[in-house]
This record gives sequence, structure tokens and C-alpha cells, in this order.
Amino acid sequence: MAAKILIVEDEEALAILVRYNLTAEGYEVEHVARGDEADIRLKECVPDLVILDWMLPAVSGIELCRRLRARPETALLPVIMLTARGEESERIRGLTQGADDYIVKPFSVPELVARVNALLRRAKPDHVAHRLAHGDLELDRVTKRVRRAEKELHLGPTEFRLLEFLMTSPGRVFARDQLLDAVWGQDVYVDERTVDVHVGRLRKVLNRRGQADPIRTVRGAGYSFDETFGRVP
Ligand code: CA
Repeated sequence: MAAKILIVEDEEALAILVRYNLTAEGYEVEHVARGDEADIRLKECVPDLVILDWMLPAVSGIELCRRLRARPETALLPVIMLTARGEESERIRGLTQGADDYIVKPFSVPELVARVNALLRRAKPDHVAHRLAHGDLELDRVTKRVRRAEKELHLGPTEFRLLEFLMTSPGRVFARDQLLDAVWGQDVYVDERTVDVHVGRLRKVLNRRGQADPIRTVRGAGYSFDETFGRVP
């Protein structure tokens, strides 16, 4: 599963160049040009890393970074700050606002790509181990809590493990026997229709208020967590 990167940069040519190179590297890349747009976007969907320009229209990169750190969902989100200002005091200010790394313009694109790779390698284990989030759905592996649209959902232990497993690989389709092995365990002999029953229960809780269904049934194949869930059309 490709890591998702959001570029927040108002210089169109630079954004296109960075996006092109990161896409070539295998990342899933989105771009917004304004600070306020980025703020809204990041409340809807948390990427794996943000490349954030310092000077942006509406809301500055520094302010945006401060807001990200103040929200639990994005408190640990890796952020690389871009800036045209190279002064040491400014660097320090950027880092104290919570950026994980800092690159001064003009920079070489391979250097930025190398820093993205390094930061994701460092950040990923904790990030993945602790919390999964897609759209308005959040699953915390430590506290075992699931929230949708800020409201806590009460799942049975099997439904929790099923959702957790599907959310770790959005878009990937799992056959019923694969789900049985992963969620129920390999030594447990249960009918494959058991999976359908538990997916049904999971959906009932997830989509109680008529919300979009994040679980996709793939006929003749199995189930997956819809990778387009929570994306802005
Ligand atoms: Ca700028």
C-alpha cells in the first residue's frame, strides 16, 4: 500500500515537479495550494506525510503545523516544512512549531525525496502500530476504540479485529478463508459464512446513521476496505 503524501504549496510549478517525482517514487500524492484548503483537507483525511510550504495564502505553513500538532489525529503526522528563508533562527522556529524536517528553497528534488523516504521509514512503525484512520473513521489499536464522525462506536471483539485487519490494507481484497485465518486464527474451524455474518454486524454498527459504507463486497472474491472511502470527489 502506497503511503499518501499531501503537498501544500502555492507555487504551482514547484508543486507539479515535487508531485511528479514523488509519484514516480511510488507514493500517492495530493496537492493543495492554500493553507485554509489544507486545513479542511487534513481534517477529512490524514495522509502519511505532509510537505508544507511556509508562506501560503490564507493560513501560513507555521500556523497550519501548529494546528496539526494540537489535534490528536495529526499530532504525530510527519511534516516537512519548505521555506525560502534560510536563517538559522527561522529554522529553529520552524522546528519548534513541530515540523519534523525542514528544507530551504531552492532545494534539489532528489534530496527532498530522500528526506521523505527517511521520515516515513522512521515514522511509519509507530504510526501504523497505534492508529488507523480513513475519512471520518478512526481505529485506535491501543485503546481499542473506534470512532466515526467523532462518535464512539461499540464493536464486538471479532468485528473490531475484522475492521482493524481490513483497514491495514485499504483496497486489497481478502478472500473469506484469508479473513478467517487473519481474524479468527488458523486453528479455528468455522464456516466461511461466519465471515459474512460478522461483516454484516460490522456494517450495521459502522453505517448506523445511513453513512457511506467503507467495506466493499467483491463478488466471487471477498471483502476489502474501500480505498476511496473518505476521499473528496
Ligand atoms: Ca509559498
